[in-house]
Amino acid sequence: MAKAAYQDSFTGALDIPAIDKQEVSRKLLIDGLERRIAGQLSVIVPVGVIGWIASLTDNRALWIFLGLQIIAQFAITASSQWLRSAIEMGKKTTIRKNLWMMAEASSGIIWAAMMLDVGVLIGGSDAVLTTWVTILVTMVVSVLLAAPIAGIAFPLLGGFTAAVAAGILLFGKDFSNFAELALAFMCLALFIIAKAVNLQAHKSCHDGIEVERLSQRLAEELQRTSWLSQHDSLTGLLNRSALQERIAELGDMPSPLILLDIDHFKQINDSYGHGQGDEVIAAVSACISETLEEAAPDALAARWGGEEFIIALPDCNSPDCKTDAADIAEHLRSAVAKLTHQDWPARLRVTGSLGVACGPASAFSVTFKSADSAMYEAKEQGRNRVVCAPEGGKKAPRVPRAA
Ligand code: GH3
Ligand code: MG
Ligand code: MG
Repeated sequence: MAKAAYQDSFTGALDIPAIDKQEVSRKLLIDGLERRIAGQLSVIVPVGVIGWIASLTDNRALWIFLGLQIIAQFAITASSQWLRSAIEMGKKTTIRKNLWMMAEASSGIIWAAMMLDVGVLIGGSDAVLTTWVTILVTMVVSVLLAAPIAGIAFPLLGGFTAAVAAGILLFGKDFSNFAELALAFMCLALFIIAKAVNLQAHKSCHDGIEVERLSQRLAEELQRTSWLSQHDSLTGLLNRSALQERIAELGDMPSPLILLDIDHFKQINDSYGHGQGDEVIAAVSACISETLEEAAPDALAARWGGEEFIIALPDCNSPDCKTDAADIAEHLRSAVAKLTHQDWPARLRVTGSLGVACGPASAFSVTFKSADSAMYEAKEQGRNRVVCAPEGGKKAPRVPRAA
């Protein structure tokens, strides 16, 4: 897959870690190990056919080769499983892999020996043709099944080719030139096909890993942007629209609101810089979250904007809902007033003014206005205090401070 295609369209934000060759080879090896075991079932047919030919022709050598081939197949199964367990346990694989390669090469040599044996000893009968075709088909199937893993098709094919070449050199006079030529072409073609299949398998595997990583990154990015669309990045609290959406879901449920505005925040900025101001906003929001965790775990807290916060207390079912909300507001005020940090300037003090109002969630804007007026009343009364919105237009009562 062309890397530039998705990187361009996402302005390079979705860069994924590079995929190294070893990782691809390892994945191919694991996939190939599973396929190799399944592929060995296909050996049952040629073993059966050659056993039948051996019994018909009473060829002792063929029986011996057949026995050796069965042992080689068991060796392939055992060594490949041994290698698999090493990969799964993260152990060193070199010795086990070499043993497997040797078992594959031996199998190739034995297949070739069977062909030569039948060709030389039995002579031009149907048995020769059947045996040769069976073995050639077996070689093609085995090589194609093993080809995706570079190191496996080649020992099998190499063993077979070497044994065939040696046989032709030794017993060449017993074969027709056509048979020798056909065998040479078949071996060469199988090498080329195995290489092509191997390259294709590498490319597909590489692309598969890349697509997997890309979709993982996309999922992470989606999660991140979805979080950012609902939260304030400085404080991690809900943002204004997310809070309003959640309140809208509450319908007619009573939902008192608390507005908290940091006192003289402009002075904090002016005296200690905006960086310090940001730290204070983050510390106040953390303090709100911690206090609510204990006092009102179901509360929804949001940064309304600048140095203003809003807290909704959904499902405040008690008959004296306003008193409960005022108590929680007083908890918040007192916690904010105690805020301090070892790295902050010694003279920096943080306080907040809070307004409380009650109403159903469906009348959010009305309740918000009342809470806002109560918060301004708290400012007017001297800040660092809680004021509840009046019922029926009376002057907002101040909430007595906790001792
Ligand atoms: P009062 O006690 O009446 O609320 O006074 P105040 O100074 O807190 O209120 P004012 O509205 O005069 O000033 C608020 C300041 O908060 C102005 C603005 O520059 C600053 N501010 C708003 N958002 C941020 C922010 O994200 N970071 C920082 N550092 N400052 C902010
Ligand atoms: Mg303000
Ligand atoms: Mg303020």
